[in-house]
Amino acid sequence: APLLEVRGVTLQYTTREQRVTATWRVDFDAWAGERLVLLGPSGCGKSTLLKAVGGYLKPVEGEVQFRGKQVHGPGPDRGMVFQEFDQLLPWKTVKQNVAFALQEGRGVPRREAEEQALHFIAKVKLSRFADAYPHTLSGGMKQRVAIARCLATRPELILMDEPFAALDALTRQQMQDELLELWQESPFAMLFVTHSIDEAVRLGHRVILLSPHPGRVKEVLALDGKGELGPVQ
Ligand code: ADP
Ligand code: ADP
Repeated sequence: APLLEVRGVTLQYTTREQRVTATWRVDFDAWAGERLVLLGPSGCGKSTLLKAVGGYLKPVEGEVQFRGKQVHGPGPDRGMVFQEFDQLLPWKTVKQNVAFALQEGRGVPRREAEEQALHFIAKVKLSRFADAYPHTLSGGMKQRVAIARCLATRPELILMDEPFAALDALTRQQMQDELLELWQESPFAMLFVTHSIDEAVRLGHRVILLSPHPGRVKEVLALDGKGELGPVQ
């Protein structure tokens, strides 16, 4: 069975004046170890869809199932990495930021959490900066910390919302390579949101192409040519 099943999901925001339909009856699956990309123009509802999978937003129609159970809220089984770099705690060092996620998300005691944190900080090549504070790091480095922090809690599905969009082109490419290396080392399922076709093609086994607002699934593209990770709809 798929790890994630998104079934007929319609998502709306209710503001004081109106109701905005962000996605309309979206269907897709994600399989264990699969790198799945959500691609579509700005405003088509990609972030909103990711929030629903993360458990931050409830569908008005349809449902999101994770491991066969309806998603009711956020959980450490679904880790999230955002576009903005300001998601690290500024008063904590790199090591403390990663360790804190382990303490909060998985209930790991502090000493042990810090040890495990160092292991994941090494994976993103930041060992020398373990005791540095976030404001001393570049954007790319901060995103590597955010990725380490996410991986450290060992989520079964990693949700990434345009994590490299605000980086310069060279750094973005390096980060894409590093993410692929991390995946090769121990494959995780990821749902990666982007509006860049290049990025989608580089990172995805499959690409869910959404139509402009309100987002609907327009096409599902299989890119690995193997089709072993899941059926193409
Ligand atoms: P994308 O991530 O593809 O750029 P979003 O999911 O951010 O798209 O937005 C989808 C639609 O929902 C857009 O029309 C956007 O303006 C609207 N929207 C997003 N967030 C909110 C919000 N908090 N309140 C009202 N409308 C929103
Ligand atoms: P994205 O990178 O997903 O396109 P945006 O720049 O469209 O993000 O939106 C940034 C933030 O503003 C998001 O948290 C989104 O939910 C919120 N937002 C977007 N559109 C609206 C809206 N019409 N009303 C209120 N909040 C919105």
